[in-house]
Amino acid sequence: MGKIARYLNQLIVGNVFDSPEILEKYSTDLSVLAIKPKLVALPESTEDVQRLARFCYQLALKDVKAPITVRGSGLDETGADLGSGMIILTDKLNRLLEADKRERLVRVQAGITLKELNTALSLNGLTIPVAGHEMETIGGLISNLPSDDFAGKYGGIMNHVERIEVVLADGSILQTSRMGARTLKKKTAEKNPTGKIYSKIAKLAEKHSLLIKEMSKKPMGRAGYQTITKSVQKGSIDLMPLFFGAQGTLGIITEVILRAVPIESHVRHAVATFSDFKMAQNFLDMVAPMKPRKLNLYDVRIMKVAEETGKKLGKITGKLEDGFVVQAEFDHRANTALRKIESVRKVLPRNTFLITENGKNSEDLDELDNSLVSFLNQTKNGERVPIVTNFTVPAKNLENFIQDIKVLEGSLGMELALYGSYMTNCYSLRPKFDTTEKDFSKKSVAFLRASSFIIRREGGKIAGGSAEGRIKALVSSEEMSDDEMTLYTDIKNAFDKYGILNPGVKLEVDPTFVVRHFRKN
Ligand SMILES: Cc1cc2nc3c(=O)[nH]c(=O)nc-3n(C[C@H](O)[C@H](O)[C@H](O)COP(=O)(O)OP(=O)(O)OC[C@H]3O[C@@H](n4cnc5c(N)ncnc54)[C@H](O)[C@@H]3O)c2cc1C
Repeated sequence: MGKIARYLNQLIVGNVFDSPEILEKYSTDLSVLAIKPKLVALPESTEDVQRLARFCYQLALKDVKAPITVRGSGLDETGADLGSGMIILTDKLNRLLEADKRERLVRVQAGITLKELNTALSLNGLTIPVAGHEMETIGGLISNLPSDDFAGKYGGIMNHVERIEVVLADGSILQTSRMGARTLKKKTAEKNPTGKIYSKIAKLAEKHSLLIKEMSKKPMGRAGYQTITKSVQKGSIDLMPLFFGAQGTLGIITEVILRAVPIESHVRHAVATFSDFKMAQNFLDMVAPMKPRKLNLYDVRIMKVAEETGKKLGKITGKLEDGFVVQAEFDHRANTALRKIESVRKVLPRNTFLITENGKNSEDLDELDNSLVSFLNQTKNGERVPIVTNFTVPAKNLENFIQDIKVLEGSLGMELALYGSYMTNCYSLRPKFDTTEKDFSKKSVAFLRASSFIIRREGGKIAGGSAEGRIKALVSSEEMSDDEMTLYTDIKNAFDKYGILNPGVKLEVDPTFVVRHFRKN
């Protein structure tokens, strides 16, 4: 064990590792990148996190680079939880600290997973209605701000967080709350680290007030720090929104207070398959106002691949080789919605399949969710690596976008099967790549650039549905004006002027570094 790991082990109650096996384990995530850290820390408390941050800050003051990357469950698809310095794991910061059933409030540590939290809440008939991977941590969810499948109805994780506690770059603590003009004046006069941050953000809000006003009129993407529009409101400031989508670049979230909602247990599905996108969109437009919690669109080729893996989807897709499957999921007035959907059966075009859940066919309909998992994990002749995932395209341009994809399929020679949520406009493309090929990184970046071009042309955003990390950051800055870029850089500097927190992620991406760190298998 090296000197630094030994020293840090004395400093914190938790553990710090530097053995090659552990460093190797934390050098990959679900993205296409591999970056080996120098240290992996497993703190047991907020105080431990503070000690680790203070240590790195002291080194930065002496001009020694000691970057910190926080890691929840490591499910990130953009390489944002990888780093070449110290990885701070939140595995042991996973406690539920307090619950107020009447107010539906719960206070947790940031490393608790969605499954752990929802299992505990379910005992009181409550839930956090986010359709995420069950292993993702609340800290990871806040930091990536994914536009999950239920976000169209429930607003996503941002709608359910009341306050957070954050360890800042210098190890001090920030507990967020909204401050009106009077409190803000007092706070910005304080000479401590949090006072200084409030003061800098207040000045930025004033300096960029027109830009922020303009930005707040447009749909919010996740690149940069677009949540500044939620932080600054009518003379008041709450720093909390800035941490949504910040991917650990502004601070380390240690505690979170969330507001839960009652569980809706009566969930019903409807599935329809169309040979042509226009017909599918007419159906989607009819269903969307019924407020399904999920309304997803899948290229039928996804189901065909799933069938190759043994899934039985014949009842859903028939013999259709080309077209789209629409999946609707209702958790409120489900029976009324399904009756309405049934009433249009007679007018549906030929070649259309419509199945509404009736208690006997539930298993057939559940197969649909699993067919996406089968598709993504079918690794014959390549891997469906995440490169162009969670982008947004507005519904009015989706038909054009689908035409654009067809052209792109021809020019790149790859099959591009689209899937995603019509309620949130958030979609993904997961073609296969041979990750062992010499020019894997070159081909991936070409695919990213070409896709990002057509997404932008159709009014969408490459990082519209989750933060840009390292991969999407290669192109997401093209969607920002110079003024926006200046504002975001100033925000980053207000929190982390020495660049300790997750450097190389979001604004500071270094394309050469990223391409050099594509994994080789
Ligand atoms: C099947 C599947 C489906 C998925 N679907 C989606 C999807 O629809 N949308 C989507 O965006 N992602 C999706 N993902 C990716 C992943 O689930 C999310 O990005 C998730 O939010 C990551 O949670 P995590 O705990 O693994 O975070 P990590 O991957 O460990 O970290 C994610 C980011 O958050 C930062 N971070 C983590 N914890 C903290 C903290 N306490 N304080 C500050 N920063 C922190 C990290 O530094 C990193 O930048 C999917 C993954 C899988 C496997």
